[in-house]
Amino acid sequence: MKEKLYRFMQGRYGTDKLNQFIFYCEIFLLILSLFFKRNIVIYVLFYLTLFLYLYRAFSKNYVARSIENQKFIRVQAKTVHHVQAIYKNLKDKQYKYLVCPECAQMIRVPKKKGKIEVHCPSCRKSFDAKS
Ligand SMILES: [Zn+2]
Repeated sequence: MKEKLYRFMQGRYGTDKLNQFIFYCEIFLLILSLFFKRNIVIYVLFYLTLFLYLYRAFSKNYVARSIENQKFIRVQAKTVHHVQAIYKNLKDKQYKYLVCPECAQMIRVPKKKGKIEVHCPSCRKSFDAKS
């Protein structure tokens, strides 16, 4: 039995960050279904995410799944850094926190310097920003 399962999973993509996120969405939808019983939209979304999870986990197309995962990681990093920058901008009175539009690196610049050109230390690109 164990060998059969091993042979079945050989060459399959398995799980990654995007699949973990899809799994958490499924858990969230399950919890929502407890509060909104007989809501067809929640059930449809749940089965769609379940299908997507299984499709990605059992897929043999490594390249396509890896590209999807890399895109997801980039979007996730940008989103997290933007939220962190908003939070830090509210707390810090001396510095302003910006997010590089190219690589999503968070950059700290002094406040009240007017319009400045910012050089990203990570990707070496420069962009204009108001501090
Ligand atoms: Zn950058």
